[in-house]
Amino acid sequence: MSVTTRFAPAPTGRLHVGNIRTALHNWLLARARGGRFLLRFDDTDAERSRQSHVEAIRADLDWLGLDRDGEARQSERFDHYEAGFEALREAGRVYPCYETPQELELKRKVLLGRGRPPVYDRAALALTERQIADFERAGRTPHWRFRLDHDHPIAWDDLIRGPQHFDPNLLSDPVIRREDGSWLYMLPSTIDDIEMGITHVLRGEDHVTNTGLQIQIFEALGEAPPTFAHEALLVGSEGKLSKRLGSLGVEAFREAGIEPSAVTSLLARIGTADPVEPFAALAPLVESFDLDRFGRAPARFDRTELEALNARIVHQLPYEAVADRLPAGIDVAGWEAIRPNLRTVGEAEGWWRIVEGPVAPPNVDAEIAAYLDIAAASAEAIDWSADPWHALTDALKAETGRKGKPLFLPLRQALTGRESGPEMAKLLPLIGKDEAVRRLRRK
Ligand code: GLU
Repeated sequence: MSVTTRFAPAPTGRLHVGNIRTALHNWLLARARGGRFLLRFDDTDAERSRQSHVEAIRADLDWLGLDRDGEARQSERFDHYEAGFEALREAGRVYPCYETPQELELKRKVLLGRGRPPVYDRAALALTERQIADFERAGRTPHWRFRLDHDHPIAWDDLIRGPQHFDPNLLSDPVIRREDGSWLYMLPSTIDDIEMGITHVLRGEDHVTNTGLQIQIFEALGEAPPTFAHEALLVGSEGKLSKRLGSLGVEAFREAGIEPSAVTSLLARIGTADPVEPFAALAPLVESFDLDRFGRAPARFDRTELEALNARIVHQLPYEAVADRLPAGIDVAGWEAIRPNLRTVGEAEGWWRIVEGPVAPPNVDAEIAAYLDIAAASAEAIDWSADPWHALTDALKAETGRKGKPLFLPLRQALTGRESGPEMAKLLPLIGKDEAVRRLRRK
């Protein structure tokens, strides 16, 4: 069976780590099975949906490398929802309701007060034609509920949660359309999933009850429901999806110098039985993607883990992958020399400044000054063609008897202006003979 998945954000804001993870998993599931991955904008809410968010979401997915095989917008499909609604109405599966929000709230409170589940009592189903006519005359328009089939238990085999069961008697008939004719999420999503041939709906476990309701909508529309998988939610290191995490998205990652592959490496694996590994490309994640590996416990997102993973990915990136982001002048050798010291590609700039100079001469006492003068003379004398750093330090060891830190540290300080940094063996050839001699002379 060919697989089609979809990612269905409401364009009411930017993507955050939680929905980036859902998008990624849907993309991986489609790619792992040679299937299709669709982007669907759930933009029935004209008030809150923005074109700028639509564009930002596309750009975020592009940045992450999640390509799509198609795109749809619910706001362009209202005629489809109208047709589905009419079909359900003819089949007697939707009914008009006239309760005000206050009346509904009161009903809820009464039931809860009696220790009963706050299930809608279907009072609207008992309205007479006359009562309905009276409402209409008074200028009241109804909202619409989907009538669940109480004799038909709801069950599905969830690819992550295993067998799921719901007793429809314990669920309220969901409101699918508001008084003003606008759509709630429930029906349009079901119709789209049918018409777009979605085979697998993979989403957060906050949608489990919706799935129970939607399964009956699929069936009422004469369609077999797709396969469902509900993943445990993403939480922060403090144990919940905090506000901070809820606003953490691609923009923040870019600013912090996080590579897209660090984000995908982390979000593909947290909450699964597989280890988080630094993959600079998506292919290994596609190959190893398996819903059987997903756990039921919340996936924990840890910013420090992301940063550490990012550093490990930067250490693997070839020159070609970063060349357009490096300061002018860095070549392959330069990149490979400084790469192991970077947490982000952006930090290359700072290290490259060390190579290019100027480097401020260190403040040294007379003894170290004398040592550096000897070092400068040695640097003039050695062979620079092969491995000048070892040639220089070997010569100095023999000449001064220094070893370890007293041998190396003053050289590093004079040559780089810092106490730590990239391997000197790689840095020194980049600094070059003349500049190295000048720095050792502290001019
Ligand atoms: N727009 C819905 C959401 O973002 C989509 C849920 C779904 O995948 O069906 O929650």
